[in-house]
Amino acid sequence: MRALVWFRSDLRVRDNTALDLACRRATDGVVGVFAVCPEQWLEHDWGAPRVDFLLRSLRALGTELAERNIPLRIVATDRFDGVPAALTSLAECTGCTALFYNREYEVNEVARDESVSSLFAERGRAVRACTDKVIFAPGEVLTKQGAPYTVYSPFKKNWRARYLEGDAPSAVGLCKKQPEIDVRPDPLPESIEGFNFGEIGVRPDLWEAGEQEAKRRLDRFVESRIGDYKEHRDLPAISGTSTLSPYLAHGVISPRQCVEAALGVNQGRIDSGDPGVIGWIEELIWREFYQHVIAAFPRVCKGRAFRTDMDRVEWSHDQGLFDAWREGRTGYPIVDAAMRQLAQTGWMHNRLRMIVAMFLTKDLMIDWRWGERHFMNRLVDGDFASNNGGWQWSASTGTDAQPYFRIFNPTTQGEKFDRDGEFIRRFVPELSELPGKAIHDPSSAGLFGELDYPDPIVDHRAARETTLARFKALAAG
Ligand code: FAD
Repeated sequence: MRALVWFRSDLRVRDNTALDLACRRATDGVVGVFAVCPEQWLEHDWGAPRVDFLLRSLRALGTELAERNIPLRIVATDRFDGVPAALTSLAECTGCTALFYNREYEVNEVARDESVSSLFAERGRAVRACTDKVIFAPGEVLTKQGAPYTVYSPFKKNWRARYLEGDAPSAVGLCKKQPEIDVRPDPLPESIEGFNFGEIGVRPDLWEAGEQEAKRRLDRFVESRIGDYKEHRDLPAISGTSTLSPYLAHGVISPRQCVEAALGVNQGRIDSGDPGVIGWIEELIWREFYQHVIAAFPRVCKGRAFRTDMDRVEWSHDQGLFDAWREGRTGYPIVDAAMRQLAQTGWMHNRLRMIVAMFLTKDLMIDWRWGERHFMNRLVDGDFASNNGGWQWSASTGTDAQPYFRIFNPTTQGEKFDRDGEFIRRFVPELSELPGKAIHDPSSAGLFGELDYPDPIVDHRAARETTLARFKALAAG
């Protein structure tokens, strides 16, 4: 049997469930394939930073696969609906009789996979779909009543209990080298129409592609920083987090590899011992939780609020205020520094993602879907489930949502998490000379008109009252 392995958000040769299985089952070689679908990607709001990282990761994957005699082929079709025909015809012309892939959980991806699987079955070819993106598949961690969780804490408790019971699969290591076959690899794309890499503004060396780089980041984090994770994870001026999100989002590293590495420095304990290790694994469980949420509640993939009562919130669509937010000129230094970090690096610290999302939805009352789309368009680590989960949490429309009356004050958030203004000074140089606390509230410095920095575009206190009134009215009626 010759196997076709379809890569999607699992761009690695180590601990790749579908690839590993295909390599063990195949008797006549393995062919890899990736489907380029630019129109669909644009519809999914993918931006150039994400696609650039994807292509570089794909090239690194192609090299790794070639060393194992697995040619990587590319099929190009504008949208997902062209994928079933493209893959079956590739299987036919390369002599592959079975297809292997790792499941994804977004609505359009699920529909695409079902169409591919039925066409393969119709043509008498076997299909094997594997669990790989998450440690426990959606449907495997359920309440006592057999329902999906809608709140994170009990999900986490159950997830950890399952892990402790030994129900989780272990990482499988490097795939087996294959015999040489008469199938040539395709040249891998350097660019894709519709995505302008020249305009990215993100230095590629910030996010070097490939499994070696992901492993290096994981090792460095686990060896020297994970112990301080609890104390440092909320401080954007410090490199206190792993920065593995782009690698996890594109599957250049697996969640199993991450959890196992962390457990390795905590004597295998998942709920006791080093608080840094426990805290970090909890974040990986948040990632799993959001994958389970999109699978169980597909409405969130269709622009709907998780909390259906919140579909009635009347959001603003003020383009001027939105532009000020996305360009980092709101007059709130921590918000502006964060938005400029996103523009310059394709990544944003988690605490800042919460601050800017809360600011957009509660201070400006702008539709969270606008913010969600902008993030997806600019992030290197854009991941539908985590992004949607984070935005809905901030907008008080999602699972575990912030109650609507808890609204961050952007000035005090800055004072608390960037006390000395080190992070703000890095990204908002026009404020770098401001002394002490004034960096968080430039208008208090008495330099009216002298700074090349805008006044706040909104009065936080007044905006807070308006937002509370809107949500209250909704709750009442
Ligand atoms: P670490 O702190 O080292 O955590 C390790 C890993 O755990 C991360 O790489 C990530 O995979 C996962 N993780 C951490 N925090 C969360 C979280 N709150 N929710 C889900 N998974 C988490 N994460 C994305 O990967 N892609 C997104 O598109 C994305 N959009 C977000 C939008 C908003 C509004 C918010 C509030 C959060 C979003 N997150 C997203 C979650 C989180 O901000 C990032 O995963 C994190 O900042 C990545 O940095 P890190 O790799 O250093 O994380």
